[in-house]
Amino acid sequence: MAKSGGSATVIAVAREREERLRSITQTAPDAIVVIDEAGIIDTVNPAAERLFGYSGDELVGENVRILMPSPHREAHDAHLARYRETGEKRVIGIGRVVVGRRKDGTTFPARLAIGEIELEQGRLFTGFLHDITEREDIQRRAGILQQELMHASRLSAMGEMASGIAHELNQPLTAIMNYARAARRHLDRTEPDPAPISDLVDKAGHQAERAAEIIKRLRRFIKKDEIERRLEPINTVVEEAAALALIGASDRNIELIFSLDDALPPVLMDRIEVQQVVLNILRNAIEAFEGTGERKIHVSTRATGPHRVEVDIRDNGPGLAPHVADDPFRPFQTTKADGMGIGLAISRTIIDAHGGRLWAESPPEGGAQFRFSLPVGGESDG
Ligand code: ADP
Repeated sequence: MAKSGGSATVIAVAREREERLRSITQTAPDAIVVIDEAGIIDTVNPAAERLFGYSGDELVGENVRILMPSPHREAHDAHLARYRETGEKRVIGIGRVVVGRRKDGTTFPARLAIGEIELEQGRLFTGFLHDITEREDIQRRAGILQQELMHASRLSAMGEMASGIAHELNQPLTAIMNYARAARRHLDRTEPDPAPISDLVDKAGHQAERAAEIIKRLRRFIKKDEIERRLEPINTVVEEAAALALIGASDRNIELIFSLDDALPPVLMDRIEVQQVVLNILRNAIEAFEGTGERKIHVSTRATGPHRVEVDIRDNGPGLAPHVADDPFRPFQTTKADGMGIGLAISRTIIDAHGGRLWAESPPEGGAQFRFSLPVGGESDG
């Protein structure tokens, strides 16, 4: 008897717990999607319904891949199967920025954290998704995103500094030119007086030193205090940057299409810098779209040799303006009212510093295309 009374209490406690948990998930501001081992959606909370634009009924019983854009959509079953077989954790307990797909086909960046629950009847995975579409939202967040933003602001500071320095350099250069001309005039006299000439040459020398000092300052500023290169999975690096590029662009109907080679070796790189490059190329593509036609950006990765990987980003926008197309990497060249025209120049410097190559192509079908290659071991192989 005592035993059955005990189990009644256990059941009551369990019910109460369940009720409490249910109320927490119902009101949680973040989307929660619970799936089983096969990827079938078990439960979603109201925040998930709002985020993805589906009702709970439409989601429960479906494969979770409907919430992902390609290629994750196609690859997710295989990821789950691999985890079942190997137990190798790629996202579980780690958390990363991913791209989600709404019912209407639009995509958005979100921060995903996955937990795992072992139950008698099998394993469940709980996905917590936090929409990071809103910039303000990001600024409030610590961690990885903040790091990215800090870097972005350093780059823009660098841009401002570079244009300031261009002006500053102009002064000593103009002075040197004037001193040289004055010296020339003295020398052209029938009996040149060496005193003022030597004075002018000294002055020109000082101005040249000043110019050198300005350049040294710029070098110091650009040089990083520490080089942070690690072996990184290029696909993840690219996807995270893509998720970041979509921030604030959710109303622009952009379709990001990924075709990422799953078998690429990790690449030795400064992740933040390479993401900055991808971010810049994608932002340019997003900003270039005009009108209301289809807006597609294809992002692909592939191996181009045993020690080299390539990232290819192509859009179906208007393409490069004719006067930019000759050399889009030339600094201070921009077609934007508020553009600095240094994004691509800096991007090229970053890829060069990694022993890689960044270049633009004009695909015959229109649009713009940027490609960059990186050596796997971080060493240039030409
Ligand atoms: P900014 O974005 O400040 O203009 P960038 O160096 O990043 O500086 O880009 C230089 C110029 O290259 C842009 O102003 C634009 O004219 C052109 N451009 C870059 N990417 C694209 C693209 N995907 N489609 C069309 N034009 C592009």
